[in-house]
Amino acid sequence: MAVTVDPTLLPELQRYGAFDVAACFNCGNCTAVCPLTGDDATFPRRIIRYAQVGMKQELLSAKELWTCYYCGECSETCPRQAEPGEFMAAARRYAIASYDRTRLARTMYLQPIVGTAIAVMLAALFALFMYAGHGPQDSASLALFQFIPSGLIHNLGLAVMILVFLAGLAGVATMATRIARSEGVGWRTVFGSGAALRRSGRALWIALGIESLGQRRYRVDCETVQQPVAWYRRRWFLHALTMWGFLGLLGATIADYGLELVGIKATGTPVPIWYPVRLLGTAAGAMLIYGTTMLMIDRLRKANRAVRHSSTADWTLLVLLWTAGVTGFVLELALYLPQAPAWGYWVFLFHVAVAMELVLLAPFMKFAHAIYRPVALFFYALKPGGQ
Ligand code: SF4
Ligand code: SF4
Repeated sequence: MAVTVDPTLLPELQRYGAFDVAACFNCGNCTAVCPLTGDDATFPRRIIRYAQVGMKQELLSAKELWTCYYCGECSETCPRQAEPGEFMAAARRYAIASYDRTRLARTMYLQPIVGTAIAVMLAALFALFMYAGHGPQDSASLALFQFIPSGLIHNLGLAVMILVFLAGLAGVATMATRIARSEGVGWRTVFGSGAALRRSGRALWIALGIESLGQRRYRVDCETVQQPVAWYRRRWFLHALTMWGFLGLLGATIADYGLELVGIKATGTPVPIWYPVRLLGTAAGAMLIYGTTMLMIDRLRKANRAVRHSSTADWTLLVLLWTAGVTGFVLELALYLPQAPAWGYWVFLFHVAVAMELVLLAPFMKFAHAIYRPVALFFYALKPGGQ
């Protein structure tokens, strides 16, 4: 098969991260120390080689890009200070930008000031749109869904979800097609027979259940090369809490809407703290706040080699997640106060606007790894012996 070489690939990749793989002399140290190197022992060196020689299509079709959790061990041992761990992170940013046809992801990564302005303006637009349809502020009790009618929030949320689904689907289709071609995986391999379906089901379970929700390789394999810290400060744990917290809050919001749809309770009806949906939201909010707070502290302190370099994209995601979690808790607090505080209504407006923005921007920023990584892990688990 003919290989197309793109001489602009390496300089283009360098715009996405602080690495210097041009200095790499292919010694193989990074592959030797990487806890996630497979049996063929080519990871991450092969991906670095693609960048060096300009093999853009091969790089964008490499599922291995997404199997790296950026433990930083390879960067630590690289004799040329090429920062291979940072290179892998930059290559993932480049891939997210390349899979997105709107070029919004590229702007978010390469023009941090414009990206931040877009994020701020989007939140302001959501807030203004909801404010335009606002109702009265009850001063006796915090009637949040009287102030911003639940129907308005639900319809806006539905529109956001549809847009995100379409954008995410387009990106995943591009990525999956590339990986499938390079791996020689066709429809028949996935759906062609009973055995193929069983194999695909198993791969799906490994990708979504064991690896994405259970964080197995991050938790078990990467842990062996991490600097020793207390369990509550370990990277996989903070990452997992952040992910579980976000998913829990999303689940609680959808479940609350579902309860209204089936006529059990209207959105915004006061419920005790032990009410399952509220309990889920509270526990998930606590996980999200703890996870994002500790991750930000670690980035500020450059507490480990994996956070030696932080991009604007890293901070944007963490700040948005943290803001959504904290404003949610402030609202909980406001609901317990004897008199409805007027600020509670504004915090609510801000909270919903940030949450909507977070979901809408998901396919266009670092958050997109939550969509792409499971797809790559699915292909990884699909190969014979893959797990
Ligand atoms: S350890 Fe450094 S120099 Fe050696 S192959 Fe990896 S990136 Fe290249
Ligand atoms: S950062 Fe860690 S997981 Fe990623 S390639 Fe380097 S050693 Fe492997």
